[in-house]
Amino acid sequence: MKSVIVVGSGIWGSSLALRLAETGWRVTLIEQHQPGHVRQSSAGETRLMRCAHGTEEWYARLAWRARDGWRRLGERAGEELYTEAGMLWFAQVEDGWEHASAQVLKNLDIPCEVLDPADGARFFPDFNPAGLSHLLWEPHAGVIRARRATQITARLAEAAGARLVRGRATPADGAAVEVGVEVGVEVGGEVLAADRVVWACGAWLPELFDVPVTVTKQDTLHFAVPAAWSTPGTPAWVDHAAAAYGHGDVDGVGMKATSDAEGPAYDPEHGERAVDEAGVAHARSYLVRRFPSLASAPVLFSQVCQYALTPDAEWIITETAPGVWLLGGDSGHGFKHAPALAEYMAGILDGAYGPEPRFGPHERTPTRGLRTSGQAG
Ligand SMILES: Cc1cc2nc3c(=O)[nH]c(=O)nc-3n(C[C@H](O)[C@H](O)[C@H](O)COP(=O)(O)OP(=O)(O)OC[C@H]3O[C@@H](n4cnc5c(N)ncnc54)[C@H](O)[C@@H]3O)c2cc1C
Repeated sequence: MKSVIVVGSGIWGSSLALRLAETGWRVTLIEQHQPGHVRQSSAGETRLMRCAHGTEEWYARLAWRARDGWRRLGERAGEELYTEAGMLWFAQVEDGWEHASAQVLKNLDIPCEVLDPADGARFFPDFNPAGLSHLLWEPHAGVIRARRATQITARLAEAAGARLVRGRATPADGAAVEVGVEVGVEVGGEVLAADRVVWACGAWLPELFDVPVTVTKQDTLHFAVPAAWSTPGTPAWVDHAAAAYGHGDVDGVGMKATSDAEGPAYDPEHGERAVDEAGVAHARSYLVRRFPSLASAPVLFSQVCQYALTPDAEWIITETAPGVWLLGGDSGHGFKHAPALAEYMAGILDGAYGPEPRFGPHERTPTRGLRTSGQAG
């Protein structure tokens, strides 16, 4: 039986552990805290699911496949983990990112519709279309209950036979491992060995490996809103150029309205998880601009998370030594893809194909765009 050690029980590691445990691998999943712990990027209350990725077809296809995965996960869990509330993209220019996205989605037969800015009033109780050229409607996009989905995925992986080991793993120095046959990790003074190791360590990856990943602090804000702003009903929304996004109130946690501008450098293990005044002001300024009746809505809930950013926002999927794989650099846009990414990564570990060159160890050219513009606008 093939064996694998997956380090990290965020949504990437847990989804991979589940996939491999269900397809004939002996799986050990190592986590320094516990699946769904609040330092994880995956432990955000919610994450957006969308297929639009500008000119990028590869991610659009992957997201569309992942949608099935989220729906299946919800069915297995017996609860709705993915709320398909739709998403409105607020396009500031006629032939920009949203226009390119619409072309790709149409080519891939993924439903979408270009709408007039004034149509926004059909989707939100209050909407100011000022400064918008058009809207792009993705009816099958929506909101994932992220932390819950991560905990359930890890639990299903265990139920499928994965062994969950609590502790901080480091690469084994090779002494106790038969070189070329197995690869190993050290955890709690013990060396564990397997045919493959996958380091899915999120923002902790740069502590262990020389990877081009910068970790930034990201404040997430939810505002108290009247019932008419609940999701489903109210869709998710993104203003790519202004680096702002959110969705209506899911489960009484409030309407999410958050800046996606990249924050200051951050330590995911020891950093204080308190939002900055500036983060609140920034989120509110977009709310005021687009949804004026919410101008004085109080903050109801906030979370501090971190991005693990590569220079070009493309992920890292690379083999650093035979059998040793890095899976990271999610760059703030990895959650939605997790079930499909796990399937893709399983194919790589099975030797069916290699990773796309874009995920390799080459020098990356600084670019943004796969998430949002990454800059406040
Ligand atoms: C504010 C914010 C908003 C976002 N919004 C979206 C969105 O709308 N849509 C979307 O698709 N994505 C979004 N993302 C990105 C998404 O959350 C991440 O891509 C995804 O959660 C990454 O998961 P991961 O498993 O790689 O990392 P993590 O969830 O961080 O998990 C890594 C795990 O590895 C463990 N670990 C690390 N090192 C070790 C070690 N040495 N030994 C043992 N365990 C270890 C950690 O404890 C942690 O549990 C957002 C991210 C943030 C911060």
